[in-house]
Amino acid sequence: MQRTKIICTLGPASQDYTVLKEMVRAGMSVARLNFSHGDYIFHQKAAQLVREVSQELGKPVAILADLQGIKIRIGEVEGGGVELLPGSIIEMLPGEGVSTAGRLFVRYAPLLEDLKVGDDILLDDGLLKLQVVEKSQDALKARVLEGGVLRSRKGVHFPKTETTARTFTEKDKRDLEIAIGLGVDYVAVSFVRDAKDIECVQEWAKKHNLNLPPLIAKIERKEALEHVAEIAKASDGIMVARGDLGVEIPVEMVPVYQKMLVELAKEKGKIAIIATQMLESMREATRPTRAEVTDIANAILDGADALMLSAETAIGKYPVLATQVMGAVISATEHFLVSKIPTFYKPQGILPEAIVFGALQAACSVGAKALVVFTYSGFTALVLSSFRPAMPILALTPKEETYRRLALVWGVQPALLDLPHEAESVALLKRAEELLLSRGIASPGDPIVFVASSPFLGYRNLVRLHRLGES
Ligand code: PEP
Repeated sequence: MQRTKIICTLGPASQDYTVLKEMVRAGMSVARLNFSHGDYIFHQKAAQLVREVSQELGKPVAILADLQGIKIRIGEVEGGGVELLPGSIIEMLPGEGVSTAGRLFVRYAPLLEDLKVGDDILLDDGLLKLQVVEKSQDALKARVLEGGVLRSRKGVHFPKTETTARTFTEKDKRDLEIAIGLGVDYVAVSFVRDAKDIECVQEWAKKHNLNLPPLIAKIERKEALEHVAEIAKASDGIMVARGDLGVEIPVEMVPVYQKMLVELAKEKGKIAIIATQMLESMREATRPTRAEVTDIANAILDGADALMLSAETAIGKYPVLATQVMGAVISATEHFLVSKIPTFYKPQGILPEAIVFGALQAACSVGAKALVVFTYSGFTALVLSSFRPAMPILALTPKEETYRRLALVWGVQPALLDLPHEAESVALLKRAEELLLSRGIASPGDPIVFVASSPFLGYRNLVRLHRLGES
């Protein structure tokens, strides 16, 4: 059993029933639909494939829709690419025009308001660097500090600038409506600056009567680092989006922030995801580098719920192999170092945590082989997982959406409780026992702890010690 979950980004390399099935078999628990790429037809087909594979394998797979957000880019470039020579002065304007070696158009409306003389401009993930040397009413002038070839549609970052534009764009609104229509289980909001960016999405969904799934805030803007506590509070989880974050802040600070961000999210019982370049070399190669394997192991030991593959599974040559490698590293690391996985959770003063705390103490004192949680919304299972228990957590739920969403949560093995609501407590316990046996989690006679914080088995809440087979 892998406690840390694997998110795979879908793309041309994985948009295939057999490939996807092998990825799920290899340990993929969440499919990411990246709305920065692909059209409606692509995402619809991908979502359908995920549901079919999940059904066939009897394994829950959650779908995470990742909205593009306000990614700042250059538009088209003359001839597809132009060389920016070090020392040359270039005019910069907001808008959609075709850029040349002397004049760049940036798709960012408040360019002239936000940037000031002395600010840096990074192009193409920081490969090219410019600095603003003059500012007028209609344009900026920037000197090329580090030159090179600039190609069409490359990303732009302003690492020293306080940018003002909000991230939830018109495209995001259209994509969110599509994603909700596809029944996705989570939505990731890109380029979040503060809690207001999350609230904007929540308010917009409410105004349009849309049933919003849990939101994951992507931390990839330096402004977000100053507001992480409020962002984590407003959302259901965070993603350490190391790709853009590593351009916004000095790259050597990424590991430091990764640890701080995971800790902060887990303190509050929110989901923590670590993303980008985890197995980058496997886009082309069949074997990972030692450094990549070590990065995965360290991300597990940082306490993340889930680790994400991006280009590796979307456009890489070996999507199944990359998933298998990540699964193998998770298994090995957890097998030997499970006791080193930290528990950051700070009690929030809510009922489920008192029940869960009691269940954990009972489980430790009797040496329980598993914790079985009965849950409607999945919240009790999330709280239980936040304590990072070493024993498996089997989560039984009658709700399909909870069953799928829990696929992302650390250590939780979701199971659909296909029994009528008014089922007798004996029938519920029997079903749990069958699952524990068929999944090889426990054997007859093993001690088990049952826990529920909402009504189950005829009680308002419960912690129950049980020996498997002795109902
Ligand atoms: C990232 O920047 O690390 C990230 C996950 O976002 P995207 O893949 O959308 O650039």
